[in-house]
Amino acid sequence: MGTDHAHRHYGDEMLSVEEAQEHILSALSVLEPEEKPLIEAIGQVLARDVVSTIDIPPLTNSAMDGYAVRYNDIVGVSEGSPVKLRVIDEIAAGALPLKEVTAGTASRIMTGAPIPVGADTVIPFEDTDEIRGRVDHESALVPAYVAIRYISPKGSSVRPAGQDVQQGQLVYPAGTMIRSVDVGGFASIGLGSVPVIRRPVVSILSTGNELVFPGGKLGEGQIYDANGIGLIAAVLASGGIPNFVGIAKDNVDDLNNKLDECLKGDLLVTSAGVSKGDFDIVKDVLAARGEMGFWSVRMRPGKPLAFGTLYDESGKAVPHLGLPGNPVSALVAFEIFVRPSIQKMLGAPTVLRDTVEAVLQNSIDNNDGRRVYARVIVQYKDGVYIASTTGDQGSNLLSSMLRANGLAICPETQRSLNVGDKIRVHVTDWTRVEQVL
Ligand code: AMP
Ligand code: MG
Repeated sequence: MGTDHAHRHYGDEMLSVEEAQEHILSALSVLEPEEKPLIEAIGQVLARDVVSTIDIPPLTNSAMDGYAVRYNDIVGVSEGSPVKLRVIDEIAAGALPLKEVTAGTASRIMTGAPIPVGADTVIPFEDTDEIRGRVDHESALVPAYVAIRYISPKGSSVRPAGQDVQQGQLVYPAGTMIRSVDVGGFASIGLGSVPVIRRPVVSILSTGNELVFPGGKLGEGQIYDANGIGLIAAVLASGGIPNFVGIAKDNVDDLNNKLDECLKGDLLVTSAGVSKGDFDIVKDVLAARGEMGFWSVRMRPGKPLAFGTLYDESGKAVPHLGLPGNPVSALVAFEIFVRPSIQKMLGAPTVLRDTVEAVLQNSIDNNDGRRVYARVIVQYKDGVYIASTTGDQGSNLLSSMLRANGLAICPETQRSLNVGDKIRVHVTDWTRVEQVL
C-alpha cells in the first residue's frame, strides 16, 4: 500500500511550494474556543467579538488636579484681575461629589474624580491661588476661597463619560490575535478572561536507528537527535503546545507502539524516514494507518515531504506532516509548512514573515530549478538591508542555520544569483538584525 503512494508527483511534476501549502492548509481547520485568563490568552486569537458592557470612563471626570467651576463665573478673569469663588467641596478619585456647584462656588477636585453637577470646566491648581481662611469643609486642607487667575476655555480638563469606550462598542472583532498591549484594554472594560481559539497540541516524533537523545551516550555510528528538540522549540515559537513522543527505531513494531501517543494531539510532525532510503519504513507504517501522500516539493532544502491523515483507535483523524530528516531541511520545511499550519489551527490570519529586499553579498547557485531557501545573515548598512549566506548551504549542515536570521528566496526560475543582486529575504529573527557602520 505504502509503495503505491510513495513519491506521488502530480503528473510528472513536483509540487510547487504554494501547491503543497494549499493542500496542507485546506485539510486543516480552526480549533474550538476556550475561555482563558487575560495573561494566558496572549498569543491566542479571539473566538468571539468583544463588546463593552460599560462606558469608559464610566462618569464624566477631571483630567487635572484643580477646581471644578462654572464657566460663566470665570468669563471675566483676566491677567491681574482674578475671580474669587467660595470652595464648597473636595472630591477625590473614587469619591462622589456631595454638592452642586452653584453660581460663585467651586469644588476642589482631583484627577479622575467625577465632575460635580453644575460645573462644566476644571481650572488646574497652577492657574489658581488658594485663599486660606474659614474652613468650610470636613477636610482641614480645603481653603475657604480660591482665586482663579487665568481663564481656560469652557469644558477644559473635563473628560466626558464614554470618551474612551462606549457601552455596546465593539472593542475587538473575533479573529484578532491578542498581543500583550491588548490585555490592559480588556481589563479596563472589566474582563478577567476572554474566549480564544485553543492552541493546537503538536506531537513530535523523531525516527531513525542512529538517533540518541541529547544528554545520552553516543555509541559508534550514532548521532544526537537534533530535530526533536529543534521542533519542540519551533512549535512553541509558533504558538503550539509540543508533545514530544521520543525517538522511534526504524522498525514496524517500535513505530506502531509510539503511534498511539502520536495520535493524541491535533497534528503529528515526524522527521526523517520519508525519502528513498531502504530503511525508510516510516512511509509504509504511516500509509497503513491512514491516507498518506509522499510528495516531492520543488524546493531546496526540504524536497521530500509527507502529508496525510492518520486515524486513532476511535477513528479520530489526525493530520500528519512528515518532514525530511536533515536538520536544516526539517527546520526550513517547518517554517514553510508547519508554522502556517499551526497559525491556521490557532485561527490566526496567515501572517507572513516580514520579507525585506536585501542586496546579496555572495552568489547562490540554483542548478535544478527548485526554490532555494538560503540561510543568510541580514544586516542593515547605509540605508539598505544586506544578506550574506552563512557558508556552505548543505541541508545536513546545521551550522548553516545557527547564525542565520533570515531565509533568502532564490526563485525556481533563476539559475543563479550574484553579488549585488536584489533578493527577497524572510526575516526569521529581527532581534538579530544588526546595523553595521
Ligand atoms: P532519512 O530521511 O531518514 O534518510 O534521514 C536523512 C538524514 O537526516 C540522515 O543523515 C539522518 O541521519 C539525518 N537525521 C534524521 N533524523 C535526524 C535527527 N532527528 N537529528 C539529526 N539528524 C537526523
Ligand atoms: Mg532514517
